[in-house]
Amino acid sequence: MATVLVAGGAGFIGSHLCEKLLVEGYKVFALDNLITGDKGNLEKLNGNSSFEFIEKDITKDLADLKEKFSEVKFIFHMASPASPNKKSLKSYINFPIETLLVNSVGTYNLLNITHNLNAKFLFASSSEVYGDPNVTPQSEDYFGNVNPNGVRSVYDEAKRFGEAITMAFVRKHDVDGRIIRIFNTYGPNMQKDDGRVVSNFINQALEGKPITVYGDGSQTRSLCFVSDLVEGIIKAMFVQKTSGEVMNLGNPNEKTILEVAQIIKKMIDSNSEITFEELPQDDPKKRNPDIRKAKSLLSWTPQVNLEEGLKKTIEYFRSV
Ligand code: UDP
Repeated sequence: MATVLVAGGAGFIGSHLCEKLLVEGYKVFALDNLITGDKGNLEKLNGNSSFEFIEKDITKDLADLKEKFSEVKFIFHMASPASPNKKSLKSYINFPIETLLVNSVGTYNLLNITHNLNAKFLFASSSEVYGDPNVTPQSEDYFGNVNPNGVRSVYDEAKRFGEAITMAFVRKHDVDGRIIRIFNTYGPNMQKDDGRVVSNFINQALEGKPITVYGDGSQTRSLCFVSDLVEGIIKAMFVQKTSGEVMNLGNPNEKTILEVAQIIKKMIDSNSEITFEELPQDDPKKRNPDIRKAKSLLSWTPQVNLEEGLKKTIEYFRSV
């Protein structure tokens, strides 16, 4: 079976992707510098002879891995801090330069490897490229409404650059590359302390602490369970004729953040009160993916409903 490289393999989504690729029979190299990723996410895979974890920063010189990677046919770029919560040490707000570099220099380095190996490439972009969108739902042809120098710009603009350089390699060097835009995703292996809405609310509810809704909770998000997302990522890479395509991947089931707080509180049967705190700067008011393109190109559609996915996520957080 073919060899794949997953940059960001110890992260929340990257670790699930590695696991699924191994089940499908691929030989998997996972790279991660572990600034926000966690080796614990890969514990299950230790001892699997088709899997190798390499602690490495993809913004640095990767020449020493040339020999090892000579058989790589597919490169997934999932490496980046991803939480916007400034209260979390793991957020991109606290790793601003690293976030800019991993999506720019890191993407450039991986694209060069892809080009030299005549491999295939997937760049994990984000719904953040739409910023605080003026249209909803967001389809791939919407250019977005992004503050180019606000606190979130280190992520938003980095992802936009990552998209631009991916397309530059597709156009200039005929690299077989595609871009996915990941909308809010949740599930086991999320970091307990990364400050994301689902991990925060579940852990607050489990510990009987106040559930902290930012703003009045009327902002919306559309939450996708990680197994659905991974299915979409794999199809985006392996389905034919996806080179040069940009595809939204997410679950269009849109909820207000206050609704999410109420659902989680009820599911856990928690005594926590719901409290309201200041809304972070540039927090998008609406987020809802138009997934018609992924549906038609990939025959992909999310299968796991919110209650089912939250149940699995709650079980996970009870166990860690
Ligand atoms: N949020 C919240 N309370 C929290 C964490 C997040 O109300 O404890 C809100 C946040 O302001 C945003 C939404 O939940 O409106 C999703 O936040 P998250 O950090 O998960 O991801 P984002 O979609 O903003 O990238």
